[in-house]
Formats: sequence, structure tokens, C-alpha cells
Amino acid sequence: AEMADDINKLFAFFSECKMQNSKFYWDMQLDEDGVVKNIFWSHASSQAEYADFGDAVTLDTTYKTNIYGMSLAMFVGASHHIQDTLFGCALLRDKKIESFEWLFKTFKNCMEDCPSPRCVLTDQDNVIAVAITNVFPKTIHRLCRWLILKNHSEALNILYARDDRIESELLLCVNQTYTPQEFENAWSWFIDEFDLQDSVTLQNLYEIRHRWIPALFKKDYCGRMTSTQQSESVNKLAKRNFVDHQTNLHSFARRMLDIIISREAKEAAETRACLGMPITKTRWSFVVQMSRVYTRAVFKLFEEALDDCTAFRIDMDIGNTNRWIVLDMEHSEKHDWCQLQFKVLADVQKGRYECECKQWEHTGLLCTHLLRTFIHAQVEKIPPQYVL
Ligand SMILES: [Zn+2]
Repeated sequence: AEMADDINKLFAFFSECKMQNSKFYWDMQLDEDGVVKNIFWSHASSQAEYADFGDAVTLDTTYKTNIYGMSLAMFVGASHHIQDTLFGCALLRDKKIESFEWLFKTFKNCMEDCPSPRCVLTDQDNVIAVAITNVFPKTIHRLCRWLILKNHSEALNILYARDDRIESELLLCVNQTYTPQEFENAWSWFIDEFDLQDSVTLQNLYEIRHRWIPALFKKDYCGRMTSTQQSESVNKLAKRNFVDHQTNLHSFARRMLDIIISREAKEAAETRACLGMPITKTRWSFVVQMSRVYTRAVFKLFEEALDDCTAFRIDMDIGNTNRWIVLDMEHSEKHDWCQLQFKVLADVQKGRYECECKQWEHTGLLCTHLLRTFIHAQVEKIPPQYVL
């Protein structure tokens, strides 16, 4: 009876939302006994965000609420201010394949005017993989590294207790490797250095490396914000703000809307802040160009990469027209496994640029190696297709 009353209040809230904006979308699935099993909803503004930033989506299902034992599932993306943004959320009673298929189909219906995401990152779950393939056959499915580590945190914490460098060195292997070879070198150094050969957890994580280590799927676009930051911030937000304190559905849904509204206000403030004349640290013409097209948040990352590239040396790749070798000169501070030189293609005439590290393909952000080459090859304008 308590649940029935709660569900009625939730319906009332949803009708309120629908009255305010007819684009508000919700749906639910009942079990054999006619009891609510799964619920999905998405506010009009969340759908607008998806239209702009829905190419890469992280689905976080790691949260179990204390509302009728349901799990919270959040579809999250990154806006052009590199803030995480919520596309929709759901409460699921179980994590069976039928529930996920229902969830993805419902999400697809909700976003019917937009293309399917190019990439979906999830926590480790074979059931989700099957459901994604069935509903979004063309979408790339990878595992979000932050969620993977979170799922294994119990076993990992025991390892971390052995030596306080283990955690940071593991994170370097995961986050700071660019090519498959570099990752393999880093991983075997890591395992040897700390005598971790016997760790079953690490063996399992290595076994599934192709699904969660970015260095192994750099060519696949996964969004400009790393999945690390993205899920972590939303996950923390969920924990801090509502999951632990809400015991009924309707208050939960209301609280969720409050969060969306406060995030929107933050976004709007960012947009206003971006309208002023940008100040650049250097006067390279491609830098001035980017300062006008990038948002403040993205331009900040761009300028950091530009600073870093001053530590690089560039040489012609002898015998290969338009090809360069960019070499990191700060190698003394780095690990032995660090790849120090990267091959870059820069055809200024045709406006074609490519770097072996594939950061641009993976995140849409230009890497230090390409920036070093732009300066050297006197690129004045970055072609529009490279500006995501
Ligand atoms: Zn690069």
C-alpha cells in the first residue's frame, strides 16, 4: 500500500513535468503481478543535451538505492563545457537482460529524433553487452575504466595496502598509455615491479583489457571527457545528494530534477563567461582561431597541451614526405615503458593531420604531438573537421 501511494505520487509528479514541457518522457514496465518493475524518465532539457552531446554515453548502474531494492541507472554524457550532463535515468528492479533491453529500447524511443550513440561505456556486465548489441547494433560498447576499477575495488584495496605506489602505478598504466605496445610494456613492468603475478583480480582485468584499456581502442571515439572523470563525478553526486537519503520514488524523482536544474544554471553561467574576448597566452594564428571556437573549458585543455608541447623536439621522418617524428625531451622523469616518440602525418596542403597516439580520434582533443607539428609546419588554420 505504501508503494502504491508512492507510485501514485510519482505519476502525479510526472504529469506535472509533462504539463510544464510536453517533451518530458517517461515509461515503465510492470511485472507479471502488475507491480512496477522498471521506470525510465528524461526531462526535456536532458533530451536537448543528448541531441548536442549524445555521441558518447556512459551508463552507470553501480548504484543500489534503498527504494524497494531498485538500482539506479544513469545515462551520462559530457557537454562542451566538459561538465557531465544527465540524458536520462532509470530505476531497475533487476539486472536481467530483459530489463536492460527494455531500458535501451525505451531510451531509443525517447531520443527517436537523434542518432544512436557512437559509443556506450558501461560497468562490467555481459548482460548489458548483449542488450546493447540487440538494440544499438552499430554502437561501440566498451567498459568504463573508472567503473571497472570501482567494481573491483574490494580486491584492489587489498593489493594497494601492500605498497602505496601500487594504486598510482596501476592508474598510470590505464590512463597514461597511448599505444598497445606501450600499454603491454607498462603492464608487465607494473606486475614485475610489485610481484603481482599471483593476483587473480589483475589477471582477470588483464584478460578483458581489450574492453576497458583506452590504449587498446584509441581509434574508437569515446567522447571528449575521459570516462574516468565523467562517471566519478556523477556517481559521487548521486551518492552525496540523494540515494542515501531518499526512501520513496517521488521525492527521488523531484530531487533528481533539482540536480538537473542546478547543473543547467552552472552551464548557463559558463556560456555567459565564454562570451567575453578570449585572452591567449601565445599569438600563433591557429591558437587565436581555437580561442574563438572552443569553449573556455576546452580551450584551457588545449592551452595546457600547447604548453606541454614545448618540451618536444620535432624531426622529419627521413624519406617520408609530410611525416614527422615528435620526441619528448623530458624522458628522464618518465618510466622506462613510456613511449617517447610518436609518428605524425601533417599534410598542410591537403589539410590532413594524424598522430600515432590517436588522442584526437578517441576524445576529439588535439594531442601535444599534433600541436608541436602545427607550430613547426606553420599551420595557420586548423581545418574545421578537426574541431569537435
Ligand atoms: Zn599524438
